Amino acid sequence: MQTTVKAVLFDIGSTLIEGPAISPSKKISALLVGDYSLKKEIAATIMTTNIKTVEELEVILNKKHGNSRDISSELKTIWKEQENSSEVKDGTMELWKKCRKLGLKTGLISNIWFPYYSSFVKVCPEIDQGVDVKLLSFERGFQKPDVRMFTQAVEELKLKPEEIVIVGDTYDCDIAPAIEAGIKTIWFLHRHENEKEALLSLEKGTAKKPDFTQETLRDITSLFENSFSTI
Ligand SMILES: [Mg+2]
Repeated sequence: MQTTVKAVLFDIGSTLIEGPAISPSKKISALLVGDYSLKKEIAATIMTTNIKTVEELEVILNKKHGNSRDISSELKTIWKEQENSSEVKDGTMELWKKCRKLGLKTGLISNIWFPYYSSFVKVCPEIDQGVDVKLLSFERGFQKPDVRMFTQAVEELKLKPEEIVIVGDTYDCDIAPAIEAGIKTIWFLHRHENEKEALLSLEKGTAKKPDFTQETLRDITSLFENSFSTI
C-alpha cells in the first residue's frame, strides 16, 4: 500500500547537516554564567530573533540575560565557528535529488539561528535555492514544537496536511507537532541517546507513533522510491 504525498519538509540540523557537538546555546550559557543552566533560555533567544551580526547578538544577550564582563571576542569565536561548521550528512543530496525527481514540492522547517543557517547555505546551496518554502525560526519569531511552524508550512505549500511529509531527527520538535498538525512523519532516528525519553514514551504507548522510522538517509531515500506515490 503506497502513501500519497505532494510535498516534503526537511529539518536541517542533524537531518541534512551535522554541526559542532556542543550547541551554541550551551557555549553562550557557559560564557555568561559558567555552566549550561541558561541553555534553554539562550536557545529560545537566539533561535527566534532575527540577529544578523555578532554585535547585535551581544546587545540582545546583555539586555535579556544581563552580563557584566566583556564577552565580545569569545562571542565572535562562537559566531565564526557556527558560520563554518556544517557538514553535509551522508545521503543528503541523494535524498534531495530523489524528492525532486518525484516532482515533490519541498521545504525547510528548522529551529536555527542566522550564522548556522549561513553555513548550511554554503554547503547545500542547491537545496537552499531549490525549496518552495522556508520555515526558519529566526525569521518567524517562534520555533518547533510550536505548531504554527507546521500550520504555516501547510498554508504556504497550499496543500492539505496529509499531502505533506516531514523528515526530522527529533521526536519532540519534528514528529509530535507534525502529527498534531496532520502531517505525515518520517523519523530519522540516528541519535538514540538524545531520543531516549521519546523512545520510552512510544514503548509505553503514551506518545503517537511516526508513520515511518528509519536510521539512515539512504533508507529514507528508498522509502520515497518504494513506499510513496506522488499522484
Ligand atoms: Mg534536527
